[in-house]
Amino acid sequence: MADISTDVLVIGTGPAGSATAALLASYGVEVMVINRYRWLSNTPRAHITNQRTMEVLRDLGAEVEAEAMMHAAPQHLMGENVFCESLAGEELGRMKSWGTSPLSKAEHLMSSPCEMNDLPQTFMEPILFKTACSRGAQARMSTEYVSHEQDEGGVTTTCRDRLTGKTFTVRSKYLVGADGGNSLVAEHLGLPFEGKMGVGGSMNILFRADLSRYVAHRPSVLYWVMQPGADVGGIGMGLVRMVRPWNEWLIVWGYDINQPAPVVDAAMATQVARQLVGDPELEIDLISANTWTVNNCFATHMQKGRVFIMGDAAHRHPPSNGLGSNTSIQDGYNLAWKLAAVVKGQATPKLLDSYSTERAPIARQIVTRANQSIAEFGPIFEALGMDGGVDHDKIQRSMAARCDATPAAEAQREALRKAIEFKKYEFDCHGVEMNQRYTSGAVVTDGQQPPNPNADMELHYQPTTYPGARLPHVWLFDRNGAKHSTLDLTGKGQFTLITGIGGEPWIAAAETLSQSLNLPIRIVKIGPRCAIEDHGGDWARAREIRDAGCLLVRPDQHVAWRATSLTADPQADLTRVLHAILGH
Ligand SMILES: Cc1cc2nc3c(=O)[nH]c(=O)nc-3n(C[C@H](O)[C@H](O)[C@H](O)COP(=O)(O)OP(=O)(O)OC[C@H]3O[C@@H](n4cnc5c(N)ncnc54)[C@H](O)[C@@H]3O)c2cc1C
Repeated sequence: MADISTDVLVIGTGPAGSATAALLASYGVEVMVINRYRWLSNTPRAHITNQRTMEVLRDLGAEVEAEAMMHAAPQHLMGENVFCESLAGEELGRMKSWGTSPLSKAEHLMSSPCEMNDLPQTFMEPILFKTACSRGAQARMSTEYVSHEQDEGGVTTTCRDRLTGKTFTVRSKYLVGADGGNSLVAEHLGLPFEGKMGVGGSMNILFRADLSRYVAHRPSVLYWVMQPGADVGGIGMGLVRMVRPWNEWLIVWGYDINQPAPVVDAAMATQVARQLVGDPELEIDLISANTWTVNNCFATHMQKGRVFIMGDAAHRHPPSNGLGSNTSIQDGYNLAWKLAAVVKGQATPKLLDSYSTERAPIARQIVTRANQSIAEFGPIFEALGMDGGVDHDKIQRSMAARCDATPAAEAQREALRKAIEFKKYEFDCHGVEMNQRYTSGAVVTDGQQPPNPNADMELHYQPTTYPGARLPHVWLFDRNGAKHSTLDLTGKGQFTLITGIGGEPWIAAAETLSQSLNLPIRIVKIGPRCAIEDHGGDWARAREIRDAGCLLVRPDQHVAWRATSLTADPQADLTRVLHAILGH
């Protein structure tokens, strides 16, 4: 007999664990979440927060999204992305990033009701964790996962209370390992991984200093510093990252992974800060310093029986593209509704198989993208002649040569411009953030084909209602004139059926199924004199179905199935689809 029992035990209160606990608690599932430490994130590691993540927060509640926005540095302060010799030194180039160029901004505005922003992990985690606790999650700090055993009926997990040193057991129906890049849960499961850990060495130096005079006129979250040695290890280049505008900063500087990790004491931290800022007199208020390694590794399967892994436990990669905590939170959004449906008896455990089928390809994609982004700094070093070692004089000559009035210098200038522009695959990669599409047993395509890509799918989001894709966002209006995103009309742990005039048989079918499956299905009817109106015709252009067709949208706002028009037997079709998705 275990000491404690719960429906779902989550290991870890990072972005993945806290989001999952918050979602499960919101869906009315008994959940316990534990963290081996007494604190939440004590360094501001993740910060770039993309629109899809903000949509998850919005689905948790308007107050959750609002609190995040209150603490975040807004998008307009994010995007100058400067490349320089040092903050005080010569600027070598810059590129508009994170949706701040006019074209990209328009794409962001059209794609989502939410705004990309910069929210350090030290703010994001408490928001998610508080949401979990305030909605009834049992949270235990200073509590360490030790081991687990699963059987047909559930999972028995042994934990250690680090205050008393005593161990105790938790019996749960399901266990989620959101325990970060050194995941013990993943290790105990023996899940398959591809790639390599420890491919580069990095140090983080967190400090306070007012650097407004170097940056306020070119606001950005990232200032890339090109100095000899900047291409050694780490994330490809020296980095001065804004944590709070403009007086809290994180420096990231690489070290050779084949050498022992350096001891970063106050003297070394100050010296590195002075060197990258370019101010030999700079005084910093050092908050912390530590070393970490760049990983290139992902799980090819994220589940064994009743146990799942998510977040960095499953995908381990450098911070390039800012995908880590975003993807971790999105893993939770994918799994939480499925666990809730199974725990509530609305679906069979077969539904849970779709978690790994859907998310493991995303893990592969983002780990590959993040590591490729490091390699793509190479052409910038080449263009400046910095790729051949650390001979300062040679580098200075080569950098100076780009200012000459010669054909070679013009070619060098062009090469540098192109190399910087190409970094949009790291700093403005909207498609990677928004185009996640699923193929699994929890999606029914009925043989339909995805739309042909109309642009580079890494750079640009392509809205579609093709089953498996996220429901496109457009603004719609209720009868009082209030505006709602299509996404606001879905989610909150429920399936949604969207139809239009002539789609009444779908509504009747959904209502019958809702009763028989004990599964709440929200109905949204869009059209003139309907509860929701499409005054501008944006929905009609986005929906890819006729008025009397329908979309079945999953609780995570991905399209589960669509019928382009009314079918001969809507009841039979919707029954077939929902039974397939729920694993009946
Ligand atoms: C410098 C830097 C910058 C970054 N920038 C970005 C960015 O801009 N955007 C982005 O999305 N990501 C970024 N990341 C990555 C991001 O920090 C991680 O991807 C994210 O923290 C992963 O979340 P997680 O919840 O999976 O794991 P973690 O945040 O690592 O959380 C793991 C949790 O598990 C707990 N735990 C571990 N072992 C046990 C155990 N045995 N028992 C109990 N609890 C345990 C830990 O205490 C912690 O609570 C950055 C990372 C770094 C280093």
